[in-house]
Amino acid sequence: MKQDPNSEEGAAERRHFIQLEIDADLKEGRYSQVQTRFPPEPNGYPHIGHAKAICADFGLAKEYGGICNLRFDDTNPSAEEDKFVLAIKEDIQWLGFDWGENLYFASDFFEQLYGFAQHLIRTGFAYVDHQDLETIRATRGNRSRPKDPGQDSPYRERSVEENLELFAAMRNGDFEEGECVLRAKIDMGAANHLLRDPVLYRIQKAVHHRTGDAWKIYPTYDMAHGQCDALENVSHSLCSLEFENHRPLYEWLLDHLPMEHKPRQIEFARLNISYTVLSKRFLKQLVEQGLVDGWDDPRLPTLRGMRRRGYTPQSIRNFCSRIGLARTLSTVELGWLEDELRKDLNPVALRRMAVLDPIKVVIENLPEGESIVCQAINNPEDENAGTRELNLRREIWIEREDFREEANRKFFRLKTDGHVRLRYGYVIHCHGVVKDEDGQIIELRCTYNPETGDGKTPEGMKKVKGIIHWVSAEDSVPATVHLYDTLFTTPNPMQDSDGKDFVERLNPEALVVKENCQLERALGDAKAGQHFQFERTGYFVLDPNHDGSNGMVFNRAVSLRDNRPKAK
Ligand code: ATP
Ligand code: MG
Repeated sequence: MKQDPNSEEGAAERRHFIQLEIDADLKEGRYSQVQTRFPPEPNGYPHIGHAKAICADFGLAKEYGGICNLRFDDTNPSAEEDKFVLAIKEDIQWLGFDWGENLYFASDFFEQLYGFAQHLIRTGFAYVDHQDLETIRATRGNRSRPKDPGQDSPYRERSVEENLELFAAMRNGDFEEGECVLRAKIDMGAANHLLRDPVLYRIQKAVHHRTGDAWKIYPTYDMAHGQCDALENVSHSLCSLEFENHRPLYEWLLDHLPMEHKPRQIEFARLNISYTVLSKRFLKQLVEQGLVDGWDDPRLPTLRGMRRRGYTPQSIRNFCSRIGLARTLSTVELGWLEDELRKDLNPVALRRMAVLDPIKVVIENLPEGESIVCQAINNPEDENAGTRELNLRREIWIEREDFREEANRKFFRLKTDGHVRLRYGYVIHCHGVVKDEDGQIIELRCTYNPETGDGKTPEGMKKVKGIIHWVSAEDSVPATVHLYDTLFTTPNPMQDSDGKDFVERLNPEALVVKENCQLERALGDAKAGQHFQFERTGYFVLDPNHDGSNGMVFNRAVSLRDNRPKAK
C-alpha cells in the first residue's frame, strides 16, 4: 500500500488503536498498571522491524508509567546463543531503552512450565503422542477445508497416570528426539488448526545456552509465551499480526491453567520497508553466503548495520513514532526513514568539504607558498556552530564531475574557458587542461579573480551561477569513503514476481568504495561515530569501528535528497 507522508503528519498526536485499547482496559479496571515485554528469541541480530516492536513495548510502558520487561524467548536451544543475548541487549540500549531490573528468560520458568504441563495432563487436557510430527500435521486435516475435522491420535485417550509417567520419561531423556511429543487435548474439529491438539513439548537433546543439558524437553512457543507473560505480570502482550491465530490458544492455555493474572495479547502489523528485507532468515542468508560483510554491514537493516552506517537512535525512534501502530499491513517508503535521519542530523551536523573523486586545479595567479583565508560557516542551521578558516592555495582539489571540457549552457559548473565559484572562496576561470598519455585529464589550469571574494560579483562581470566545493591540496587529509545505496534494486525485492531469487535483486552499487578522497583539514580531527554533512554529497559518519589503523573511512549515511522511485 502506498503511504502519503502528509497524511501521517501528526500521527504521533493521534491515538492509535493499542492506546485506545489500553485506555479502555485501565478505565474499566481490567488492569491497574501497564506492563509490556519485548520477547526476542536470541537467535539473531535485531533489525529495524524489531525496533518497531521495541519502541512499541518500551514506549507504551513509559507513556503509561508502567514497566517493560526484556524477556528472552529461549525455548529452542539449537538456534540460540549467548552472543545474541548480548547483542540484543546492546542494541536495545543503543536505541535508548532500559529494562532496569526487569530481565527474564523463558528458561528461568522451565520448572514452572513443566508443572503447568503436568497440570494439563492431570486435568485431562494433555497427552503424550507417539506419532511423528509429519503424521500429526497430516492428521490435523486440510487447512483449505476448515470444516473437515482432523483425525484423533490413537494415543489421545491414554490415562492420566500413563501420560504423567511418559511425560516424566520424556523429561528424563528416555526417548529420542522425535519419538514422542506432549499435545494439548483441545478440539480436533476446531476451525482454527492451532487448536487441533497443538504440540506443547518436544524432545530436543541440544545443549541450551543457559540450562546446558539439564532439560531434554522444551516447551513450544505457545506453551511458553503466554505463561511467561502471566508469570511476569504482563498486562498487554503486543506482537506482530502473524500471531493473531495463536491468540485463541494463548487464551485457552491461560484459562486451563491455575493463573490468577491473565495478560492480553494484541497484534499489530509487522514493519516492511521498501528496497530491503526485514526477516532474520533472509538476512542470515545474505550474511552466510558472504553477499554482505557480516551482521553490521551498513547495507543491512540490522540495528548494528544502521548504527555503523550513521543512523542515530533518535532518527529510528522518530521513524517508529511516525509510522505508528496499526493492523493494516503496508510497506513503508525507505524515504521516510532517510528523511528522519536528515531531520535529525541537519540541525547538528557540521558542514565540511570533501572531494570524493579529486582532480587537481592549479590556480596560476596564486603563487606557491601563499594562501588566502576564506571564512566558512560550520552550520547555517546553528548560529552557535561558528565559522572556520579555509586556506585557498595554488593547488586545490575539485570533483572530477564538476568539470567538463565541453558542455552546453545548462552545465553551471566548470568547463574549458568557463567560470565557477569556489564555495566560500572566489570565482575561478579555466583556460587549459593537462592530460596524461592516455588522454586522461590530470590537471586544470585556472586563474582566480581577486575581486570576487565574499560572494561578490564585480561590475561588468556576469554573475556566476555554479558553486562547487573544493579542498586545498596542501592541507587536505586523504580518506576512503563508502557510498551506500539501497540493498536491492527494486522496491519490493521479495514480491516482484519475475521469477528471480531475491539475491539476484541485490544492488551491485549498494556499496561504492572511493579510495582516494581528499577532505578538508578539519576532518582530520573527526572522532569515530561523529556525523558531518559533506557539502553537496550527503551526511557521513566516521566509521564507528575506526581505530586509525588503516586510514580514515567515512560512511555515507544518507544522501541529501531522495530521488528513488517509490514502492508500489
Ligand atoms: P524474523 O521474523 O525477522 O525472523 P522474529 O519475529 O522471529 O523475526 P523474534 O526475536 O521472535 O524475531 O521477535 C521479537 C519480537 O519482534 C516479536 O514480538 C516480533 O513480533 C517482533 N518483530 C519481529 N519482526 C518485526 C517486524 N518486521 N515488525 C514489527 N515487529 C517485529
Ligand atoms: Mg518470529
